[in-house]
Amino acid sequence: MTMMNKTLLSFFVTATDTDAGKTFVTAALLAALRMRGLNAVALKPVQTGCTEIQGKRIAPDVAVYEKAAPGETIEPCYALRFPASPHFAAALEKRHIGIETLERYIEEYAQGREAVLVEGAGGLFVPLDEEFTLLDLLCRCRFPVILVCRNVLGAINSALLSIETLRAHSLNIAALVLNLHDESDPICCSNLDYLQAHLDFPVIALPRLAEDDFQKAAPFFQNLLDGHIREIPREESIDTTFDRAHLWHPYTSATEPLPVYGVLGAHGNRIETPQGSLIDGMSSWWCAIHGYGNQQLNRAALKQITRFSHVMFGGLTHRPAIELGKKLLNLLPQFDRVFYCDSGSVSVEVALKTALQYQQNTSRKKTKILTVLGGYHGDTFGAMSVCDPVNGMHFLFRGMLAQQIFAPRPSCRFDQPFDESSLHDLDEIFSAHSDTIAAVIIEPIVQGAGGMWFYHPRYLEHLRELCDRHGALLIFDEIATGFGRTGKLFAFQHTNVTPDIICIGKALSGGFMSFAATLCTEQVARTVSGNGNVFMHGPTFMANPLACAVSLESTEILEHSNWRENVARIEGTLRKHLEPCRSFEEVADVRVLGAIGVVEMRENVDVTVLQRFFVERGVWIRPFGKLIYLMPPFITPDADLLRLCEAVESAIRLEKYRR
Ligand code: PMP
Repeated sequence: MTMMNKTLLSFFVTATDTDAGKTFVTAALLAALRMRGLNAVALKPVQTGCTEIQGKRIAPDVAVYEKAAPGETIEPCYALRFPASPHFAAALEKRHIGIETLERYIEEYAQGREAVLVEGAGGLFVPLDEEFTLLDLLCRCRFPVILVCRNVLGAINSALLSIETLRAHSLNIAALVLNLHDESDPICCSNLDYLQAHLDFPVIALPRLAEDDFQKAAPFFQNLLDGHIREIPREESIDTTFDRAHLWHPYTSATEPLPVYGVLGAHGNRIETPQGSLIDGMSSWWCAIHGYGNQQLNRAALKQITRFSHVMFGGLTHRPAIELGKKLLNLLPQFDRVFYCDSGSVSVEVALKTALQYQQNTSRKKTKILTVLGGYHGDTFGAMSVCDPVNGMHFLFRGMLAQQIFAPRPSCRFDQPFDESSLHDLDEIFSAHSDTIAAVIIEPIVQGAGGMWFYHPRYLEHLRELCDRHGALLIFDEIATGFGRTGKLFAFQHTNVTPDIICIGKALSGGFMSFAATLCTEQVARTVSGNGNVFMHGPTFMANPLACAVSLESTEILEHSNWRENVARIEGTLRKHLEPCRSFEEVADVRVLGAIGVVEMRENVDVTVLQRFFVERGVWIRPFGKLIYLMPPFITPDADLLRLCEAVESAIRLEKYRR
């Protein structure tokens, strides 16, 4: 759902079942919002059971909103007569409910509002037509959900079933409202206690109130509204003068910086700027796989903050580090040891140092790292030494970087039959440098910042053989590819081999904060620690508890989500809608893998011109070099993927990539 420039607050009100009281809750929330002076609106996209007076359909729920908060009311998009499921009520009138029409309706009426409430019809799986359900509409809106459930016998089960479903679709739940709560009823009280103890979002016990006593209901929602209103900033603009004069941005000149766009807020797959709401196509450089403002991550951080946000890791430990460690080793059972780092580059340094210390403790004393051209591993000195020497920063630091060994970029494409000849160079290099290669570092399957290149899994399988044969360690840098991006949880799972050391970062914390880790096998760890040696690294913020707690939560969100289906869906949509770009003369290649879509141009693009065009189109895409590429959050709905692809296609068609 796009362009809700000024919308401060939005909720989708749904229920465990029909007659749970969601209309009352929506009306009471509307009244509470209007009482705060907000330009709020309640929408009922589909209403069944309408009556007809003098040819006009009267929607009962809209009448309730009007009673609660007199003033502007908005008629449903579909006002249907028969009081039944929308798909059936529509069919009886020979009509069809279009999910896109509903999306546009919500978008249109939400535009320019400070608050918008959307009330569903019945529960989550109520059909809109043969294909879509209410849940699909929720997924497209991605508003925080308020779930209403009658507090009666069976409430625990029905509430948890709906919650499970919402979570499986990565929808944020703002609150559960237990309606018709009766303090004198032990069942009601036990339901409330149980749900409060088991849920990590507010459970609001709303007593039975008179049908039109919306004012009495308002105080029950006070905290909820306060919390949500505070989350979203109210400023309308950001003065970037100071930024331009004093703040460095990535890879920019201090005297001629590239333009920057101010950010007012970010939620779901949207980045809010004074220029408008932008559909995020970058996941903030591979990180924000669950989108922004994920409430589970926020809550995990808050929970840890209230305990402690940091203590040193030298001589101390804590539950978040231990629990995250267990989780990571569970996801990556080939490994035994976890070294927590503060960024991806640091985790690469740690991996390189591990490999070098490993070799020092063998009789071999090898000191060189082999890598491939077109790679990118970070901006610190060790990492830079294994980045692509041409695209990377070697030329600036010639003579100061460790001299490593480079093989050509793997030439065998991921999407083509394997070509054995692509291995010849590797064989030769290993034969020539067998006694010096301590380790090989490589981004498995996808080379990211060094060229967005996808290569064949067999290449890695052969590398594993060579490393084993020549006593070198194999390091996979999965900082960009890890956590589902390529369609597998980790990119090396496209192959039948595993590395000795793996670097993970970026999406590890769901994009919440900088965090990374280097994992190695027991054999590597034991060798490094042989002869009474210690591993020589220990960052100040190592195993930061906040980062560990958030990363644990992020990993759990991913595990419990339908990320595989989402990534496959994104892959299908990107493939279909980026492919037409291939027909442009200026396009050298189009390639898609998992939730990554790349259009490679023949010439470098002008980032400033292209970026401005994209922002005008309401999308956030940051090209570099010859590459215009997309790697959206996994929660991105299809309609937004289409807008991203359409923006890329039009930029090329309209030649908005050059000055
Ligand atoms: N390795 C890879 C494959 C990366 O993509 C990156 C970041 N783009 C890094 C390492 C460095 O990570 P960080 O920026 O967190 O230091």
